[in-house]
Amino acid sequence: MRFSPLHLFSHVRSLSRTVRHLWVRDYQDVKLILEQSGDLRYFSIPAGFQRFFARSTIVVSGVVLFSLLVLSVTSLSLATSRARLERSHEEVFRALISSTAESQDADYDQTLTEEQMVTLAQTIRDRDMSIRRFVETSMVAVSEENDTLKTQLETSGLTEKIVKIIQQNSPNGGFNVDGDLQSNPLMRGKVAEELATNRSLREVLYALPGRMPISNFSLSSDFGIRKHPLTGKSHFHTGVDLMSEAGDDKIYAVKPGVVVMSEFHNQYGNTVVIRHSNGVESLYAHMAQLLVKVGDKVTTDKVLGYIGNTGFSTGKHLHFEILVGGYPVNPQKVIRTAQYVQQIENK
Ligand SMILES: [Zn+2]
Repeated sequence: MRFSPLHLFSHVRSLSRTVRHLWVRDYQDVKLILEQSGDLRYFSIPAGFQRFFARSTIVVSGVVLFSLLVLSVTSLSLATSRARLERSHEEVFRALISSTAESQDADYDQTLTEEQMVTLAQTIRDRDMSIRRFVETSMVAVSEENDTLKTQLETSGLTEKIVKIIQQNSPNGGFNVDGDLQSNPLMRGKVAEELATNRSLREVLYALPGRMPISNFSLSSDFGIRKHPLTGKSHFHTGVDLMSEAGDDKIYAVKPGVVVMSEFHNQYGNTVVIRHSNGVESLYAHMAQLLVKVGDKVTTDKVLGYIGNTGFSTGKHLHFEILVGGYPVNPQKVIRTAQYVQQIENK
């Protein structure tokens, strides 16, 4: 029998006719008589069972045929894409070879000579080496940086944990003097325990200012992201804005220290910066008057100046910041932490 599309078509047609016939056929009960060791046994195959058997055979064969079709289509497309991939690999390889061989030979053909293989291998090895060297020197730089950072942290008395706690302070949360000290991260778990035994940790906490610069105040703008009242743009507010409640405009140093800045600044207006111990500084801005000068040693009784409206400001208020290693932290949370330490030390 010759294979041709016409033949195939006639086969398919006869097959579909057979299938249709088996599907719709009017099955009759069949009786079978079997002889088993001299006895005659009667079996009956009901029409329903025959129909069920025929139809399920058709369905199963159909599913198998369909799966085979899907499988062959899938493997065909897989083979095609693999061939495409191989071709592109080959192109990349050729490009690589021609780029390394460029300087050597103009009429370069696509088979590799032994010399070219060696050149290629050397190029690859050189590249590999330079990448490894780069990684190694970067690693050294990073670990040196870490060491410097670590020394800095150690000499500033700040442990990693405290730095983390201070830096992770959420920008939200209004000040409440009687407020819940329970929300203080240092109150919870291990850190509080450590506080009792770890001397350097205690020193860190002693370094934090333990009072606010105004005795009776209200908060007009909190630490964190806010829309600037003048520009309308979103800014990170690096401090808190405080207004006097009792009409007392005196601004006090929040901790003993040395004045490192006392001058007019375009944005901050009249500004005082005091350096305390352990890399902690406090900043007071928009002051009406400056009552201290650089180099002055100040205590917490010292009036630094009066609340004002100098510089880039919308009204009379004190902009107050606390900086740890130059990094602004949430002043109220830091002060609350210090107050907590004072509290347990005084017990
Ligand atoms: Zn402010």
